[in-house]
Amino acid sequence: MVMSLSRRLADIRRVVLYISMAALLLTGCRPSAPHQFVDFSVGTVLTLTFYNGNRSSNARQAERLFAYAQDVEMRMSTSQQDYEDSELLRSNRNAGIRSTTLSADTIRVVTEGVRLSELTNGAFQIGVWPLTRLWDFSTLIHTADLPSSEEIAMALPLVGHDDITLDQERSTISFATEGMGVDVGGIAKGWIGDYFRTQIQKREGSVALIDIGGNIITVGSKKQGERWNIGIQDPSGTQGQIAGVLSVAETSVVTSGNYERAVVIDGVRYHHIIDPLQGLPVANELSSVTIVTMGSMYADALSTAVYVKGLAEGMAFVERLPGVEALFIIADNTIVLTDALRPLFTVHSQKFTVRE
Ligand code: AMP
Ligand code: MG
Repeated sequence: MVMSLSRRLADIRRVVLYISMAALLLTGCRPSAPHQFVDFSVGTVLTLTFYNGNRSSNARQAERLFAYAQDVEMRMSTSQQDYEDSELLRSNRNAGIRSTTLSADTIRVVTEGVRLSELTNGAFQIGVWPLTRLWDFSTLIHTADLPSSEEIAMALPLVGHDDITLDQERSTISFATEGMGVDVGGIAKGWIGDYFRTQIQKREGSVALIDIGGNIITVGSKKQGERWNIGIQDPSGTQGQIAGVLSVAETSVVTSGNYERAVVIDGVRYHHIIDPLQGLPVANELSSVTIVTMGSMYADALSTAVYVKGLAEGMAFVERLPGVEALFIIADNTIVLTDALRPLFTVHSQKFTVRE
């Protein structure tokens, strides 16, 4: 089998890189040069920056954590090109036929996924697989590759979380009908982020920044009371170009955007966040949604869900959730924030206007 690009890159970078430089998106003074480690898995770049601890124990921990992320990718990926035999691809193939045994972590992620689907009224939809298998961005190149309206119409009745049965004791998953399936792409990075944080916090007093493809988790603070400055990506800028900066304490900052995995075919842009009711990439006024809340997986599911809901419904939804804040970037370059985030955000690019 031809090795996927992500695996090749992950292998090349298995020898964890140590780069003694400031994290790109951070500002502010720090006592000494942080230790930074970079790897590539779950289809993205993982960066760990430690602000204390000794270099060799940080390197050992980074290596262990990166290995865990690769393991999660192997078990939970539903990218057919990369992992033909992941636990979840197997479970989706077995849908309507037989149940599938899942490892402990996988069943926990799927169980959380079902709960988050209920919480978001199916805007985050763990059972979106019948659609995401059609919208496979690793193979979408030409107009002819786009799913047909007939294919989408046939997939829509198979989408949902009600017909998924999880047996916690036996650690199995089964589906009511053939063709159903789960896709944890909207929460897996969040799960990994929470795992990284838990492991890093085991070393008491740790101060670190976890970046999983732009999903940020802050651990501790560099100086008592000092906030972290997190850059928010400009959706139409080049990667790393920021719209502004959010100043946050210990938390997670997770963004879903229409620029993350997208293709332009014949002038039309298709991206990876799918409206589970329409079966098409979400088309609303938003370019991105950033969620700020403590749990990284929670933030991950909410950023996807709120993106699907759009500005008005998404804002009303977030305002009902305790401890959850949001930043919306609208296609016309207006930025809308929940009340608690307003004093914490500084716009960095002239082209954006913050709505009062
Ligand atoms: P995120 O970048 O966290 O917004 O997640 C996007 C990924 O989640 C996609 O690449 C799909 O694998 C999956 N996905 C797409 N649409 C949805 C949806 N409505 N609910 C749950 N997962 C989705
Ligand atoms: Mg998400």
